[in-house]
Amino acid sequence: MWWSTSLSERPVGTPRTGTGEAEQQPGFDQTEALLLELDLSPVAGIWSDAVQTVGIVRSAAGLFVGWLDVGWLTPEDPFSEMRDVAHIVERVPLDQLERDLRFAISEAENVRADHLRECERCCEHFVPGQMYGAACCHSCAVRDGDIAC
Ligand SMILES: [Zn+2]
Repeated sequence: MWWSTSLSERPVGTPRTGTGEAEQQPGFDQTEALLLELDLSPVAGIWSDAVQTVGIVRSAAGLFVGWLDVGWLTPEDPFSEMRDVAHIVERVPLDQLERDLRFAISEAENVRADHLRECERCCEHFVPGQMYGAACCHSCAVRDGDIAC
């Protein structure tokens, strides 16, 4: 019929706002796309920035955001330990999720900065888990023989 062609040519499922067809695909993960957009990538289950300052863990209950300290299973086995964790509900509109995430990341960065300690030997700043003593970092302690290797 004369009208059938125009109907079949009409795109199905085209977003009204035109913000990208990818969001319409089944199984497309908006949260993952957002985390990637924020320059985060997953390492051993924790999404983090390149220099490992903040961590984000996804779960069925939402997102958990904290700053990353270093924990030690043994003196040779460090792991990333999240501190001062905030909970973010994931099932909110994407723009609100982005605002919530950016705020939580910024807060985590600020709290981490408050916890940094200065090494009296190399004058660098470290998270508590990277310190050997109150005023000495692990690297300096190893270099100076405080820690037997
Ligand atoms: Zn040091």
